[in-house]
Amino acid sequence: MTELFPAPLLTLDVISKKDAGAHLLISLAPAAEKPAPGLPGPEAGDTFLSQKDGQAVLMVSLGKAAKISLETLRRTGGAIARWLAKNKVAEANLALADLNEIKLEGAPSALFEGLLLGAYQFTHYKSAEDARPTVSAVHIIAGTPGKIKPLVERAATLCKMVNMAREWGHEPANVINPVTLAERAQAVAAEYHLKCTVLDDKQLEAMGAGAIVAVGQGSKTPSRLIILEYPGTDSSLKPVVLVGKALTFDSGGYSLKGVENIVTMKYDKCGGMAVIGTLLAAAALKIKTPLVGVIGASENMVSDQAYRPDDIITTLSGKTVEIITTDAEGRLVLADALTYAQRNFQPRALIDLATLTGGVVTALGRVRGGLMSNNPELVQQLMASGEATFERLWQLPLDDDYLKSTKGEEADLKNSGGREGHPIMGGIFLKQFVSDEIPWAHLDIAGTADSNKEMPYCPKGATGFGIRLLIHYIESLG
Ligand code: MN
Ligand code: ZN
Repeated sequence: MTELFPAPLLTLDVISKKDAGAHLLISLAPAAEKPAPGLPGPEAGDTFLSQKDGQAVLMVSLGKAAKISLETLRRTGGAIARWLAKNKVAEANLALADLNEIKLEGAPSALFEGLLLGAYQFTHYKSAEDARPTVSAVHIIAGTPGKIKPLVERAATLCKMVNMAREWGHEPANVINPVTLAERAQAVAAEYHLKCTVLDDKQLEAMGAGAIVAVGQGSKTPSRLIILEYPGTDSSLKPVVLVGKALTFDSGGYSLKGVENIVTMKYDKCGGMAVIGTLLAAAALKIKTPLVGVIGASENMVSDQAYRPDDIITTLSGKTVEIITTDAEGRLVLADALTYAQRNFQPRALIDLATLTGGVVTALGRVRGGLMSNNPELVQQLMASGEATFERLWQLPLDDDYLKSTKGEEADLKNSGGREGHPIMGGIFLKQFVSDEIPWAHLDIAGTADSNKEMPYCPKGATGFGIRLLIHYIESLG
């Protein structure tokens, strides 16, 4: 098996000023009131390389002083990481004292996150020497290194898991399929002392999980349900249960996707990758609240074994579903995973993450994920964590009026309600598999789980969206 975690392309350590060597010095400052030669530009992350007393200094702009936010710091960190990689700088010092004057709580951590996330690249299959990236070591010069060290360690742990979720997201379907994903999950779970249970297609079929089995039955590598458990440091608490869609490839099945839309469908597993990353981060950070992750892994393919439009399947809940389109497979996998989660655990909150609909991309673009829920308090908590981490969400409604669109003609439900209110159709379908007693949220991350262009601290491709958001939410529960 290949490496489970991508090798970090940037490492951080903390030193005191007297231990700083003669490496390139990175110096941060708000943008000057008036642009002047010999200074970086006005935007956060703008750089200018100069010499000071014979030493190379990279001056980096933090943008306009009044507009500096934690996100500015993350983006600045990302810009520095990219500059170091582009210029093949192996070692640099960063003066943290520069941040003191901006007086923003959490500023160092945000900067560290931007550096560590911004350095990530998917280079696993590049064999050419010149395609191999430089590893940069950034030494943080801090007045009191002991205070900063835990912040650096925390950022490194969190970003390691985000970058893992990105790496696994990037891995193509001829490498990660439901079977190999389950093996990888078992391996990382063992490393972080998580309990990991894998149910194969035979066990799922025997249990009555007809939906997840149907979606995967056209593939040589049939479905797996992967369950990860982290006990928390206070195991008397009820767990937060996360459910992830992991379609390792979604061809659409017999409702086959077109040439344009089928490329990038390896990213249809990113909800599941975010759940795995969050469980690992929670374990590594020793979070108080217990967590469970239930990942539905399937590959939606075309073959003589594949499920068809018009099929009527019986879900784990006992509800029957007629298949209108085999491309609305994510909600089927999630329906069984949500039922399993509620039968086997007592969720304090139940949150599913899925690259569910193209409709959410039409509605919200690639800026915010769609949030649908049966619980206003959970909405408010997740919205707040989204703003804090800049993994932003926006609520879509789930009025009862939408229910009739998913009512089946010959079965209890149908898996497609047409194009009207497309992302809501996914949410309202899932709502019918969740008890009203359990606070539940559905995050449709089809627009945010992967990016079609480079972003300030993320290259094109899998983003790892959801891990920082969920860790913030779970920690905010106290
Ligand atoms: Mn699909
Ligand atoms: Zn899908």
